[in-house]
Amino acid sequence: MTSYVILGASAAGLSAIEAIRQRDPSGPITLVSKEPEPCYSRVALPYLIAGEKDLRQITLQGPDYFRSRNVETIWGVGATALDAQAQQVRLEDGRTLNYDRLLIATGSRSRVPPVRGIQEADVCYHWTLADARQIDRASENARHCFVIGAGFISLLTITALLKRRPGLRYTVVEIADQVMPQLLDPEGGRRLEEEMRSLGMEVLLGDAVTAIERDGDGKYSLQLRSGKTYQADMVVCGTGVEPNIGFVQGSGLAVDRGIVTNERQETNLPGIYAAGDCAQTRDLISGEPVVHAIWPTAIDQGRVAGANMAGDSLTYPGSLSWNVTELFGLSCASVGQFRDGPGLEPIVFRDRVTGVYRKVLVDSDNRVVGAVVIGQPQDMQELGVLQSMLRRRMDISRWKHRFTHERINLGMIAFEAMKAQAARR
Ligand SMILES: Cc1cc2nc3c(=O)[nH]c(=O)nc-3n(C[C@H](O)[C@H](O)[C@H](O)COP(=O)(O)OP(=O)(O)OC[C@H]3O[C@@H](n4cnc5c(N)ncnc54)[C@H](O)[C@@H]3O)c2cc1C
Repeated sequence: MTSYVILGASAAGLSAIEAIRQRDPSGPITLVSKEPEPCYSRVALPYLIAGEKDLRQITLQGPDYFRSRNVETIWGVGATALDAQAQQVRLEDGRTLNYDRLLIATGSRSRVPPVRGIQEADVCYHWTLADARQIDRASENARHCFVIGAGFISLLTITALLKRRPGLRYTVVEIADQVMPQLLDPEGGRRLEEEMRSLGMEVLLGDAVTAIERDGDGKYSLQLRSGKTYQADMVVCGTGVEPNIGFVQGSGLAVDRGIVTNERQETNLPGIYAAGDCAQTRDLISGEPVVHAIWPTAIDQGRVAGANMAGDSLTYPGSLSWNVTELFGLSCASVGQFRDGPGLEPIVFRDRVTGVYRKVLVDSDNRVVGAVVIGQPQDMQELGVLQSMLRRRMDISRWKHRFTHERINLGMIAFEAMKAQAARR
């Protein structure tokens, strides 16, 4: 009988359990989670901060879930070492677990930027349930919130706090020259920045915090590279994430930006798989090695890893950067390659009255490689079909002119494309 150990009880780990149990109903599975709480949706944490949902509503599994699937669980204990030769994982509490198949699905954690005094200053991050609770406590009596980094997580945090703590004032500093540099192009970034300023936020671009100090009253003093100084009642830091893979050091596992995996989610060591935010795979479009730290990617990779651990033969086609969110009442989305570049043609639709901005990037073979959209929820409806065109590497030369209209009528294009494909068969 094959025995399985899964490290990490979130998107990737849970999806692997489902895939294993569909193929192997009885092989012993042990799930190890460093977090003490029941599995919850990380994506839904902003709703918790906003006061729109409680923990029960963002919990992923009912109390009987693991028992009904015959999964042994170890909560609140992390793995500290991997001995691949002995096929053993060591845990923080001294226990060792033997495995035939091991899945590393330990995800990522907030990156701490190189700022003097940041470790001692007790600033807020936003990645775990414990972080969300800390943000809630810190914001309770705060009047001025200083935010380090204007990326996705920082802006989600502010959007949630705007609902929960309406009187709070914000200063946001970003080292790049636009907001959301990882997920929006410069024009999209400008559009979002305008919205932030219209809500009274101070946005500092091309600057960075160099030092933080906290006085006896709990007030923060921040020093910026430009020489500016600020005082704040709370500090939120969102400067990216890094994979939780310190414990594999010395094990012989190949590590680059994450644990290196092949298209079966196998690592370089026999019987060991990796999936989710801690795993490096290939970009679907460029084929470059990437870690796309997003929920659907973790689910898909976990499913492929779990299936293969249980003896199946699934392949993961590569991951696609894909993000849709609501920030400050604006719907923002980007998919694939959204920054202009050599050989890429941008097809843009703008409506200055409604504020909609949509750019679709097409390569020299007339294939969609990515898009960015800012607008209202109804302006996001074409993203699904755009994504599908991108995944299929569809030639859109016949319909390119439609991409400059407000509604592309992608449904009709998809229908025609399928007809054309069927006729070719
Ligand atoms: C506020 C917020 C909003 C987000 N919004 C979106 C969104 O809108 N769309 C989207 O696609 N993605 C979003 N994400 C990202 C998404 O949540 C992650 O990509 C996803 O959770 C990754 O899943 P995972 O299973 O790889 O890892 P994780 O969810 O990070 O879980 C890994 C688990 O492993 C545990 N662990 C770590 N080290 C060890 C160890 N040594 N031993 C045992 N266990 C360990 C961790 O404590 C954690 O519980 C958001 C993330 C956050 C924080």
